[in-house]
Amino acid sequence: MPRGRNDIPLMTLLDGEMVSHFRLREFENAEGLAMVHPSVLLSLEKTRRDLCALEGETVCVLITDAVRTAADMARLAARLGWTDEGGLVSRRSKHQAKYGGIAVDLVAVRAASGVRVSQRNVGLVCRKYFDFVKDDYADGHVHADNRGVLK
Ligand SMILES: [Zn+2]
Repeated sequence: MPRGRNDIPLMTLLDGEMVSHFRLREFENAEGLAMVHPSVLLSLEKTRRDLCALEGETVCVLITDAVRTAADMARLAARLGWTDEGGLVSRRSKHQAKYGGIAVDLVAVRAASGVRVSQRNVGLVCRKYFDFVKDDYADGHVHADNRGVLK
């Protein structure tokens, strides 16, 4: 694999200026395929902005999972199980590539200390800017998606 794959800053207009706190590679799957809907980028930038204000210091929003191919879904379900069989992976997951990059899993950390921002605070802010948020995962991540764009 060449260095620099998907190492491209993603820019969006926020509060009247261009901001860029995310790179395309953060949205890659294991094979390096990346997809992100513009509404998600804007929601993420707003989430980051508000979390910085809420925590009173610079916060980094980290994408832990984004687009998933059918193979990614099968691999994940083999590990965590399908929801209709009591597991954690939904067959209707908005992470699937066919939905166009509308879903992300994320955590947030304080930039200076690396200490995690609470799942509660991340979920609280995400609810302002995403259509759907789930923030009760045991590992502390938050799922957020903009399923409204599918309507
Ligand atoms: Zn998710």
